[in-house]
Amino acid sequence: MQRVVGQGLRRTIPISEIFYSIQGEGINAGVPAVFLRTFLCNLTCGWCDTKYTWQDQDNAIEGINYDSLTQEEIITEIKRYNSKHLVVTGGEPLIHQTELSPILEALKADSFFIEVETNASITPSPNLLKLIDQFNASPKISNSGVFVGSRLRSNSLRALALSGKTWFKFVICNQGDLEELDEVINMFDLPRDRIILMPEGTDPETLKQRSRWIVDICKKKGFRFSPRLQITLFGDKRRT
Ligand code: SF4
Repeated sequence: MQRVVGQGLRRTIPISEIFYSIQGEGINAGVPAVFLRTFLCNLTCGWCDTKYTWQDQDNAIEGINYDSLTQEEIITEIKRYNSKHLVVTGGEPLIHQTELSPILEALKADSFFIEVETNASITPSPNLLKLIDQFNASPKISNSGVFVGSRLRSNSLRALALSGKTWFKFVICNQGDLEELDEVINMFDLPRDRIILMPEGTDPETLKQRSRWIVDICKKKGFRFSPRLQITLFGDKRRT
């Protein structure tokens, strides 16, 4: 049965922003895409560049820190743009996966390609695993400053790996991260042909310096490299 938008799509989700740009990271870097950025995160990474999606989230005020939009309003806003490529990001969007599912079903029925960016600590529902075209999972290592039990969860990592739809993108700060990276890949049996290394950095110069040696590591180990085009092209700004 075809879902009719406007009927039964009235549940709300806290949203940080919806905007149109190009995908800045991962295997689709450069592709024009609509971004749906949800509010709230279950982690607190020290170098997070979207802290506005979670900092002081218990005291957040609607209309200032986030907008509370209905599922129907979110679909309408996404469809305003000249793209059928959607990136769902956060914060951690899987916190809202129950409410997001009907939205993503409606957009899939309208031929959207959908990528979901997740920190890989929450297991996607079977429905979401079926629905989504691509997961960009970014498991956090100790450079995030987050307690290991919160950031690395075997159930969610296993579900994402088994889906065959997931790329695992690791944020790298220094050479010391590489040993830990290997341990995580081995411990959770992550597919080595789907590993992406991305430099941490919120200014073009830091990214450039780190990119040079990270590219060498990628060449040696057969991993992919990811740029951060939103930083190199636009600087550390929102809605880019
Ligand atoms: S998981 Fe992502 S959004 Fe959440 S704190 Fe870490 S970097 Fe930020």
